Amino acid sequence: MNAENIDQAELDKFGALASRWWDPESEFKPLHAINPLRLGFILEKTALKGKKIVDVGCGGGILSESLAQQGADVTGIDMSEAPLNVAKLHLYESELEVNYRQVTAEQLAEEQAGQYDVVTCMEMLEHVPDPASVVDACQRLVKPGGWVFFSTINRNPKSYLFAIVGAEYILNLLPKGTHDYARFIRPSELSRWLRQSELELDSIMGMGYNPLLAQYFLSQDTSVNYLMATQKPA
Ligand code: SAH
Repeated sequence: MNAENIDQAELDKFGALASRWWDPESEFKPLHAINPLRLGFILEKTALKGKKIVDVGCGGGILSESLAQQGADVTGIDMSEAPLNVAKLHLYESELEVNYRQVTAEQLAEEQAGQYDVVTCMEMLEHVPDPASVVDACQRLVKPGGWVFFSTINRNPKSYLFAIVGAEYILNLLPKGTHDYARFIRPSELSRWLRQSELELDSIMGMGYNPLLAQYFLSQDTSVNYLMATQKPA
């Protein structure tokens, strides 16, 4: 267990941009654009109405709100204060209900082990010092038979070219320095952490970007961005 599994510089990076979180033309445009894809990926595995969900590393709440919109009872957790404040304020606009808290997944797992039907942890693992510890916390948070969904970025020359050079330097989709190549995670590494914490891999899906159409799409190509659906054995 890693109780203080945070990188303050990473949290500050998101904090500095937080006011623009819900502007679909801002630095967060890619998160807005991929959100329907990841929601669709989740809904293919499990219905969400009435489910108890924790969204780990929720930021300004883009995914949390879309889960709440499906009728789920959602808790969003993040360790960066400004995005959480933005997430709370945005509820006045969306008129949705989400319970936002500044707590780590590891701390919440101490408090509420086995209480969630679904755990989501999207675009977050590549920003923490010890991602395996977060994976394990997600496993502890979910009920037996429940689902845990992850998304992150693969680590290889192509992902360096697409996710850093392409997205940050050529297409300016993300601010320079958003991602650190060394922190990218191979599916084999994430799979090893799943096995260590006894989560079962259900499926993996790639997410691609077509710069000509300015559109994201799901695909079998997991070489850059990818999603994983996993389950805790019943
Ligand atoms: N999951 C959201 C936001 C992704 S941005 C989405 O996909 O829409 C990554 C988020 O992870 C940021 O809000 C950042 O503050 C948060 N984060 C980074 N380290 C964290 C940690 N140790 N615990 C909780 N959240 C963390």
